Amino acid sequence: MSQSTLIITILGSGGSPGVPMPGCACDVCHSTDPLDQRTRCSALLSYAGHNVLIDMATDLRQQALREQLQKIDAVLLTHTHADHLHGIDDLRPFNRHVEGPIPIYAAAPDVAHLQRVFPYIFSDDLGEGYRPQLETRCFAGPFRLFGEQIVPIPLQHGRGVSYGFRLGSFAYLTDCSAIPEASYTLLSGVTTLVIDGLRFRPHITHFNIPEAVVAAKRIGAEQTWLTHLNHEISHQRHGRQLPPGVAFAYDGLQIQLPINTGLS
Ligand SMILES: [Zn+2]
Ligand SMILES: [Zn+2]
Ligand SMILES: [Zn+2]
Repeated sequence: MSQSTLIITILGSGGSPGVPMPGCACDVCHSTDPLDQRTRCSALLSYAGHNVLIDMATDLRQQALREQLQKIDAVLLTHTHADHLHGIDDLRPFNRHVEGPIPIYAAAPDVAHLQRVFPYIFSDDLGEGYRPQLETRCFAGPFRLFGEQIVPIPLQHGRGVSYGFRLGSFAYLTDCSAIPEASYTLLSGVTTLVIDGLRFRPHITHFNIPEAVVAAKRIGAEQTWLTHLNHEISHQRHGRQLPPGVAFAYDGLQIQLPINTGLS
């Protein structure tokens, strides 16, 4: 067993319209605090010399430029809502840096969605356009990726399903309104958590902040970062109201953790 490092970069911490929201006159949308500027929700896991992207957010190009991303070796898809998926074409420049297509790991219904909604990418009938070279891979449980075990965590997202992902003692759970009992079992031992906490008021398809705090406590996380934040959240003003060990994520946040390779 040897120890290596996992670096999690929050590429985007915003809700589906992003913050600021076009046309909105509210205080947060006019905030001069860079921590209140939130692109669409996405993260990057960097370990063992590889970069694994979680979701292809609508702001992927802007995020890749901001973080000076050189390569993307694989993608994990949480679900197919547009804010998490419709940056898919922005993967095209990254094909130059890998041999063969970039694999996208997704649940079977989400793979079917990709093939239906993006036939110009996934059809065998190649057009002349400049399209990303991608390959879908279905997951139906934990799988190994670049030497580490990735555990998909089924989550309830309104009436739909979304997937969180666990790697070692870290879990990323965006877009959820409830965590099924069996998924709490899969999250046992997680100490660092990124979790959906859209706003303080209730929402039908997302945890609000009090619900996210309760879930994080049940999981036993020592440090929790709230993400998918909307324009009702002022990073500074509302940050002071959060309990110890809970903070707002922000675009560009990096979290560094040891991972024990050879376990599991
Ligand atoms: Zn979302
Ligand atoms: Zn606003
Ligand atoms: Zn969603």
